[in-house]
Amino acid sequence: MTPSSAAPTTTPETRPALAEVTSPIKPSEAIRLGCLTTVQTFGYYRDDGATCAIGAMAVGFGGNMGKAWAFEDLTEDFDCPVAGCDNDDCDSVIPHLNDSHRWSRERIADWLESLGL
Ligand SMILES: [Zn+2]
Repeated sequence: MTPSSAAPTTTPETRPALAEVTSPIKPSEAIRLGCLTTVQTFGYYRDDGATCAIGAMAVGFGGNMGKAWAFEDLTEDFDCPVAGCDNDDCDSVIPHLNDSHRWSRERIADWLESLGL
């Protein structure tokens, strides 16, 4: 064997799997995805083909309700962006915007995106 016939530096076994090169989607993007296949509901995560913002996020996360709930918990201390609202009902801000202010899920996604989420 000559030096020019050395093994290639990259073999199929060392290439990354496709799943390793994809990036996770943001919560705002997950909500937008969920909006494509569900209509909005209020007071429920999911109800007969309808979802609130958190439910839409779960749909966008591939049906992973736990991941959406974890994000809901993370945003529990966020201030409500509606001027003059003191959000004294102790809701996490996303369900609060969905249920109390009746923001569209797309508007909630816009707001999350403005925060880089
Ligand atoms: Zn509010």
